[in-house]
Amino acid sequence: MIYSHSRLQTYENCPFKFKLRYLDHIKREEAESIEAFVGKRVHEVLQKLYAESLLTRTNTLADLLNYYDLLWKENWNDNITIVRKKFNKEHYYQFGRKGIENYYKRYQPFDQSITIGTEMPVNFDLDDAGKYKITGYIDRVAHANGIYEAHDYKTGSSLPSQRHLDTDRQLAFYQIAIQEMWPAAREVRLIWHYLAFDLDLVSKREPADLERLKTDTIALIDKIEAAKEFPAIESGLCNWCEYPDLCPKRKHFYIVENLGENGYFKDRGVSLTNKYAQLAGEKEKIEEKINVVKEQIVQFARKEKIEIIKGNDHKVRVKITPRLKFPGKDTLERAALDSLLKDAGKWLEVSDLNTGTLSKVCKQAGWDKSLIDQVRECATEEETISVYLSQLDEYDEE
Ligand code: SF4
Repeated sequence: MIYSHSRLQTYENCPFKFKLRYLDHIKREEAESIEAFVGKRVHEVLQKLYAESLLTRTNTLADLLNYYDLLWKENWNDNITIVRKKFNKEHYYQFGRKGIENYYKRYQPFDQSITIGTEMPVNFDLDDAGKYKITGYIDRVAHANGIYEAHDYKTGSSLPSQRHLDTDRQLAFYQIAIQEMWPAAREVRLIWHYLAFDLDLVSKREPADLERLKTDTIALIDKIEAAKEFPAIESGLCNWCEYPDLCPKRKHFYIVENLGENGYFKDRGVSLTNKYAQLAGEKEKIEEKINVVKEQIVQFARKEKIEIIKGNDHKVRVKITPRLKFPGKDTLERAALDSLLKDAGKWLEVSDLNTGTLSKVCKQAGWDKSLIDQVRECATEEETISVYLSQLDEYDEE
């Protein structure tokens, strides 16, 4: 497989979605989010601006806004989804328009650098043997005074931190590509234009950073290609995912959203969840009451120096046993204790096999296969069943 930043990011965000999209090739082209729609239109407008200015035609702001309007109307279709119900089509239209205006006013007359290409495809290898291939598109490549620039237009409504961008993979990939295409490039600047904020963020990578990036990316690709399991990882991105109907984490949301009010309340999953939440709430209140009485019982037993307290049909036994509390795992004090016991040759007398860690190693195939097979033979397959209750969050209710 040829990888791109976006493919790798899809795996990092949700391996299950990666599998559906890139391994099972399940196409869902009809679904497009409004955010993606706005992003495409704004990119097309800025592409026109720079592609034509290379041929000495400078668009006015009005030209660009008219073009934006035309593209919007030509491409709009009813399958475009608006997840955030507080906002409508007009809000997003104005959002994109404002971004173009901001950019235009900031950069007019667009002579800060010379554009080499727009929407430029790039391909490069991470290794000398050409086994790990990366592909992508750079929104705009330009140069000024021997410095090359990779420009990326951002049309989102959140601004990342500088630290986040200093470790961003996408534009660093593009730096590798630019340096391969133009080895004379003495410096490459990575520039993100956050249009809604009228703000540019800039970063630079040193050769050592790029080498580390290559090594880390190769390790990630190896991990993807060796993966046997592709878990679904729920996040705020789920509302923009094209596979809710296939996903164990979102399938029920998808089903009930399409049931209508009557069907919704008759749905067995909805009523079971509601019942469970109600009972769990009652249990919590009872537990609080039990804890209060338990504390009073202990106080009573201590005060009266009594170990067993009699009631009508029951008795309560209060056992207070002193114990040694040792430092917790991953603390310096615990490390010192470990060393003390190891140095004294007593470690094996008090240590025990950590079956949780062993089970994790078997799952992740972290050891030699034949050893894992032998370990597995000592185990039996069982299920751990956990049922967690939580409030719907803002994304669930968008
Ligand atoms: S809905 Fe969420 S958890 Fe499910 S596949 Fe999509 S991104 Fe992954």
